[in-house]
Amino acid sequence: MPITKEVCRKCGCTNNNPCYHPKYGFCWWEDSEHTICSHCAKKEIKNSKHTQHRVNDIPDWQPPEETQA
Ligand SMILES: [Zn+2]
Ligand SMILES: [Zn+2]
Repeated sequence: MPITKEVCRKCGCTNNNPCYHPKYGFCWWEDSEHTICSHCAKKEIKNSKHTQHRVNDIPDWQPPEETQA
C-alpha cells in the first residue's frame, strides 16, 4: 500500500479529520512529507487513553470547551 501524503500512515487522519488530545490539542505532521501525525509518532500522546484519532469519524465527538484563558 503506497504511502499517501497528507494522510497519516498509522491512523489515517488528515487535515480535515485530525486527532485530538486534551493536553496537546489537534495533531500536527511530524515529518516533512506529512505521512505521520504527532499523535501517532509521540509515545506520550499515542499511549494516552485520552487520544482520539480521526475525530470526525466519532459520531458524537465534540471538542472540549476551552476553560483556560
Ligand atoms: Zn496518526
Ligand atoms: Zn493524527
